[in-house]
Amino acid sequence: MALPFPTDNFFPLSGRCSCATISYQITAFPLITHICYCTWCQRESGSVCGLNTLIESSYFKLTASTKPELISGPTPSGNGQTNARCPLCHDTLFKYYGANRHMTYVKAGTLDRDSFQRVMEGERVHIYAGSKPEWVGLEGERKRGVGVFEEYYVREEVWRKEALERREGLMERVTREKKIEGSEDGDGDGARE
Ligand SMILES: [Zn+2]
Ligand SMILES: [Zn+2]
Repeated sequence: MALPFPTDNFFPLSGRCSCATISYQITAFPLITHICYCTWCQRESGSVCGLNTLIESSYFKLTASTKPELISGPTPSGNGQTNARCPLCHDTLFKYYGANRHMTYVKAGTLDRDSFQRVMEGERVHIYAGSKPEWVGLEGERKRGVGVFEEYYVREEVWRKEALERREGLMERVTREKKIEGSEDGDGDGARE
């Protein structure tokens, strides 16, 4: 079972790159955060996991005058991804998977500390735990009822109802606008559907 994202006293979440040239706000509760231990995320992050917070792009606002550079990169499925990087410090702040620009995957480590704390207390799921290092213990998370999966998960069993409804609305809009040709949240984040 997933934890409900705190719904009281919501304030916009904020984040930035290391040099503060790029900054952003998230203006609605994130749908979920993926803590992904797949080897692809480990290589990309140079660390033990990728940390991606999912939010509809309509709730993600750039708040600096300088825009990030959009850099194309590979994914295991071949659908590709687009990484938004600061043109000066080159930190990656967020990404899109495949052709879908309607869903933003925020690199959660770029959130400001109070926002980071807030998001980490919210709905989250550990995926591809089968390739995490032994020293990353997730028993506490299991006891808290947070989803821990060896590989991927069934969205309907994990996301809260409100988030599922929002995604449904998003996908309907996407289909209507026919702006997308590939799959929605393709992969790279481990989202193999
Ligand atoms: Zn920067
Ligand atoms: Zn991954």
